[in-house]
Amino acid sequence: MKELIFERSVAGRRGYRLPPCDVTPRPVAELIPEEHLRQHAPHLPEVSELDVVRHYTRLSQLNFSVDTHCYPLGSCTMKYNPKLNDRIASWSRFAQMHPLHPASCSQGLLRLLDELEQLLCEITGMAAFTLQPAAGAQGELTGLKIIRAYHRAKRRARTTILIPDSAHGTNPASAALSGFRVVELKSNAQGLIDVGELRRHLSHDVAALMLTNPNTLGLFERDILAITALCHEHGALVYLDGANMHALLGLVKPGEMGVDLLQLNLHKTFSTPHGGGGPGAGPVGVAKALEEFLPTPRLRTRGTRYVWEERGKRSIGRVHAFYGNVGVLVRAYVYIRTLGKAGLERVSRAAIINANYLMAKLAGTFPAAFPGPCLHEFVATLKSLKAHGVTAWDAAKRLLDYGFYAPTVYFPLTVEEAFMIEPTETESKETLDAFAAALQQIAEEAKSDPEMVRQAPHRLPVHRVDDVKAAREPNLRWDVRGHKQFAKF
Ligand SMILES: *Cc1c(COP(=O)(O)O)cnc(C)c1O
Repeated sequence: MKELIFERSVAGRRGYRLPPCDVTPRPVAELIPEEHLRQHAPHLPEVSELDVVRHYTRLSQLNFSVDTHCYPLGSCTMKYNPKLNDRIASWSRFAQMHPLHPASCSQGLLRLLDELEQLLCEITGMAAFTLQPAAGAQGELTGLKIIRAYHRAKRRARTTILIPDSAHGTNPASAALSGFRVVELKSNAQGLIDVGELRRHLSHDVAALMLTNPNTLGLFERDILAITALCHEHGALVYLDGANMHALLGLVKPGEMGVDLLQLNLHKTFSTPHGGGGPGAGPVGVAKALEEFLPTPRLRTRGTRYVWEERGKRSIGRVHAFYGNVGVLVRAYVYIRTLGKAGLERVSRAAIINANYLMAKLAGTFPAAFPGPCLHEFVATLKSLKAHGVTAWDAAKRLLDYGFYAPTVYFPLTVEEAFMIEPTETESKETLDAFAAALQQIAEEAKSDPEMVRQAPHRLPVHRVDDVKAAREPNLRWDVRGHKQFAKF
């Protein structure tokens, strides 16, 4: 069978034909400036509609997704997102609204955005939000620009951002990109911020501490009030990477922890499918003292109307075209309004219980790197496999054979052979039991047949690949040997 859609191409084959044109066509060169015209036709496959449907359906069947598999990818909150949210976001009144519609014609949507800002304020305890940033990392960048603007307004030149060693890689990247110097804080033996270490590093040059709570080990920073107070004593702000808000809904407000500003990852916590790399939304919330630095335009009410306020004297300016990824914002709004306060709290409680259940169940096989209860995720160490020459990477590949997407591996960097597991609240006890059983089975296989584990996966269309080569020279051809095995599986 022809494997690639390009190989199925037959000259002249079409999916859809328009009736013959009954007006005299004008040459395209009259309509589009010469320099924008192609010299050669694009290299596109010529196929029927059915060819296209089969191509994409087949590709989707080769994939792992939350709709087909448990997807315990730590730090990513790959939970099931109710289809209701997608359905409402795709209503033509939202989906077909043009961003250049004047505000007078989009009052309903603006009201939704305004209410979403207020809901996020209530959930986090912050004073104001911008919905513009398109992802968590862009939220971080926005937050760091606000931190810079705040210190500048106070006529202070502060150039350092303190970041714990367990932080997500985007934290130091965003700080460096914003022109700050990054200083790493070593965690203590419990995997938490070491308050003594923090005190030693706080100086008149520190612009902010950037922390994650619960941190990337799934542990709550118990000294958070002392940490934020200490930073404030030294004139430093506290930025919270709020990607782990999934553990706190209805339980704790970052504003009450003394956090000055944060980003939320709506695509994680507030229900937008995000496995394919986007779109997302990373709204930034700030305390009252930072509100004037938020990006413009800001949504305001004038009487009963919503209007855009384009200018702000101290604003850092625009960070996204129009008002962000509105489809994601609509989903988050529907999700929050559907669940309500009590429902959101149950989300976090169930996510925490599921993670602790799984952690306890796996304790004898792959113990957590740090003992004690976790929040919505935990980091297990698979270093016991090393005695058999098997790595966390091999175990992750073998898990695919058992029908589970692999957890996040080798992150955070502070844990040897790390498996960062986030089961989420949407998985059942039966699924968690099956996942634990698969990992226990893999631990046995590592002893009895380590070579087999090292070569996994065996039941997928594509077997172990050279990761670098696969990324640099992708070969999308169907693996016939694998296909047979896949069909059997
Ligand atoms: C996902 C994540 C980010 C980055 O968010 P993106 O939306 O992927 O840019 C930052 N920090 C933590 C802890 C995360 O889990």
